[in-house]
Amino acid sequence: MTYRGRFAPSPTGPLHAGSLVAALASWLDARAHDGHWLVRIEDVDLPRCPPGTGEFILGQLAALGLHADEPPLWQSRRGALYQQALQRLIAAGAAYGCACTRAEIAAAYEARFGPRPKHGELIYPGTCRAGTRGRPVRAWRFRAQGLIAWQDRRLGAQQQDLAAEVGDFVLQRADGLWAYQLAVVVDDAEQHISDVVRGEDLADNTPRQIALQRALGLPTPHYLHTPLVLAPDGHKLSKQNGAAALDLADPAARLREAALRLGLALSPGPRPASELLAEAVPLWRARQP
Ligand code: GLU
Repeated sequence: MTYRGRFAPSPTGPLHAGSLVAALASWLDARAHDGHWLVRIEDVDLPRCPPGTGEFILGQLAALGLHADEPPLWQSRRGALYQQALQRLIAAGAAYGCACTRAEIAAAYEARFGPRPKHGELIYPGTCRAGTRGRPVRAWRFRAQGLIAWQDRRLGAQQQDLAAEVGDFVLQRADGLWAYQLAVVVDDAEQHISDVVRGEDLADNTPRQIALQRALGLPTPHYLHTPLVLAPDGHKLSKQNGAAALDLADPAARLREAALRLGLALSPGPRPASELLAEAVPLWRARQP
């Protein structure tokens, strides 16, 4: 299989030190394998994406010398493909309509498991698995089942009991927006991505994506989850907790910092971003399986 990798930012805010690590790792891995590197703007959740942020991220990548081999793809323009995939899942009995409101799901969760956690999606109790009993469908869910095991290129053997740990997850939300899980699986397959390199915070999404790939008869790419960049208080650095946008007055300095987070020590001395990137490729290649 020819190597094809991608960087897939959600344009809810500009790139920060954490997302640059994922961008750089995916770029390095593609270059180290003489492969193609693509950029996909994951703006499915359009209301959460301030206008112009996708273009801003593309400008940041260009300033860093991270050039994609194909034009960027925008998920907000690809609803028809996600719709087709959902139809196939419904036809195969792998997806079903759900009539439950958030409040109903929370009440059912508490009745079954006790007080609900403050954060994160609740495990759906399966109320509509056998039909909505005449109530109108609000969202579409994937019928989760079984244990999913996979091999991560950095984390090694991984597994998740999808039904118990995640439950029947949403594919299309009640407001009509497509869920990340479905969009990412459709696009990784449609773009023939062979290797997904992304931050470790996304590792526990991988079993949901593998389950969807199997249900849709799509190949599973290789996965490599990179170390997270933590804020000084130990929390993950993210747009949600206000991580600062990268200061690109000195792109080479930012690349050096990101490379160091990946364990790559680039030689000192002032050099343009392009030279630093060229130096990093063989260092990455030497370390990766
Ligand atoms: N769009 C996702 C994010 O920015 C990443 C998706 C992926 O790499 O699979 O968190």
